Amino acid sequence: KEKEVFKAGEMIRKTLALIEGVLKTQQITVHADQSGDPDIYGYIGECCQVLLSLLVNSRDAFLAREEIANRAITIRTFSEDGKTVLTISDNAGGIPEEIRDKIFDAYFTTKPPEKGTGLGLSLARKIIEKRMNGRFTFRDIVDGAEFRIEIDSKPAA
Ligand code: ADP
Ligand code: MG
Repeated sequence: KEKEVFKAGEMIRKTLALIEGVLKTQQITVHADQSGDPDIYGYIGECCQVLLSLLVNSRDAFLAREEIANRAITIRTFSEDGKTVLTISDNAGGIPEEIRDKIFDAYFTTKPPEKGTGLGLSLARKIIEKRMNGRFTFRDIVDGAEFRIEIDSKPAA
């Protein structure tokens, strides 16, 4: 299948449809701000896969921290320097500093074997950076984790 241009919001809606029910039963609210709704040039199915894997990671982080109230995942999309940017953040407690340089390594997981393979973030980075010419990064935020995807908005001229 070829790369195509699609709306970020369309991809986000498709992905949320897959996991919405699970998040709701766990009292996790998703805020999706697609005010600009920029275009993405890439593989929509693979973008959904990446986003789903981030949402599952946030869900798992919330499951491990029962004490957190106001459980929220925020998805933002906007245009920057001709690229499309998506940020996916949560308030699930964040990633301890000691492991931040390992989270993108294949097979690195803090979950029991039946719950995690440690392949989610390494595969997500490969999909975004190798398959779609983008950038996939992490940053620590107050109370949680934020992942940032920078991706083409249109075919190279
Ligand atoms: P897996 O989910 O199978 O453990 P991933 O590559 O998706 O593998 O994630 C690697 C590790 O990064 C997780 O085991 C977890 O420790 C950490 N992590 C990823 N996302 C989050 C998040 N949103 N909040 C807290 N920790 C996270
Ligand atoms: Mg994962």
